Amino acid sequence: MIVIILGPQGSGKGTQGKKLAEFFGVPFVSAGELLREEAALGSELGRRIHEIINVQGELVPPEVITDLLDARRMKDDAKQGMIIDSYPRDLQQLELMRKRFTPDVVVVLNLSDDEAIKRLGGRRQCPDGHIYHLVFNPPKREGVCDVDGKQLLVRDDDREEAIRNRLGWHRGKTEPMIGAMEQSGVRVVHVDASAGIDDVQNAVRKIVGI
Ligand code: ADP
Ligand code: AMP
Repeated sequence: MIVIILGPQGSGKGTQGKKLAEFFGVPFVSAGELLREEAALGSELGRRIHEIINVQGELVPPEVITDLLDARRMKDDAKQGMIIDSYPRDLQQLELMRKRFTPDVVVVLNLSDDEAIKRLGGRRQCPDGHIYHLVFNPPKREGVCDVDGKQLLVRDDDREEAIRNRLGWHRGKTEPMIGAMEQSGVRVVHVDASAGIDDVQNAVRKIVGI
């Protein structure tokens, strides 16, 4: 089972994708997290990725993220499938994906830019990727991850200017790519992501369970 979750930054892809992966017992694979992990290694590729994500605020080249995802798909724990967050993000990535796999379903989380900005301004994450919100999903102890006790941080790219830039690519590059996917016969289901976390999760589970 391969499920892809797409949507603007802040729509809840990570929040929903992690819960869904736990529910179905398959790994959650976020394109952004794969890139941040590679960047943290400090390799030559990692330094290039860090520069693109955090300094230029752009998408990394399609071959880079496709290669990282290829390697992740080959791991044993992905044999039964996986939940992929944020790949493909544009038409070039869609072409590369088509040569590799077909998702069972693509879930698109729809949210307005204003709501996304409100959410991202309060996002806090632990180094292992557990996601919180200062108001909508606070940790039990301020600044500390409920799961592993690590300190919660603001992501380097959660600055208003960088957020607006990323929302711009979603509208300009990812939405046309989603249209192309739909036209090619892939099952694409749109979900209103403005509801609370549990309501959105229930809607997504219904779609994926069918
Ligand atoms: P994405 O992966 O799409 O960028 P996240 O899952 O990181 O989005 O969520 C962005 C922020 O919004 C986080 O702080 C998260 O806790 C919060 N959030 C996610 N879903 C909801 C929701 N349905 N209602 C309110 N806040 C949410
Ligand atoms: P995210 O964690 O989804 O917000 O992604 C963080 C950053 O990683 C993005 O702002 C991009 O710079 C990069 N990124 C994430 N997914 C992709 C992708 N599919 N293709 C290219 N770059 C990506």
